[in-house]
Amino acid sequence: MCHEGVGMKNYFFSEASSNLDFHSDPTVNEWNNRTPLNMPQCKNCAAIGICGGGCAYGAQLRNGSIWSVDDRFCNHSLSILEWVIWDIYKQSMVSAQRIRLDRASEASHDLNRLLDEPGHERAESERHRN
Ligand code: SF4
Repeated sequence: MCHEGVGMKNYFFSEASSNLDFHSDPTVNEWNNRTPLNMPQCKNCAAIGICGGGCAYGAQLRNGSIWSVDDRFCNHSLSILEWVIWDIYKQSMVSAQRIRLDRASEASHDLNRLLDEPGHERAESERHRN
């Protein structure tokens, strides 16, 4: 399943036999089902949408089961999540500022157009000057 598991052998196929059925192989199915959505310890984790469950091999090495979580990866995922949220927030603030500036510029442009329309005091005084 994982090239890291070469030495461990229990999750590594050293050769693919011609009668290996990937869809019914219990090891393949177990690894396919290892997602944080199927791991009770991940149920309330804020990073569940971005982490993918971390490294199964690392979890096996550190805790003896691919169904455990590797705390090092969890810390990494939570740090990345915090960074992503702050980055999205900062980008949205910059976008909001740009929109405000664009609107202010459009309003200023509209106002100048109104002031330059015939019949307006400013437009008439400009005409008299020329
Ligand atoms: S960061 Fe850790 S606890 Fe959170 S969903 Fe991923 S594996 Fe589970």
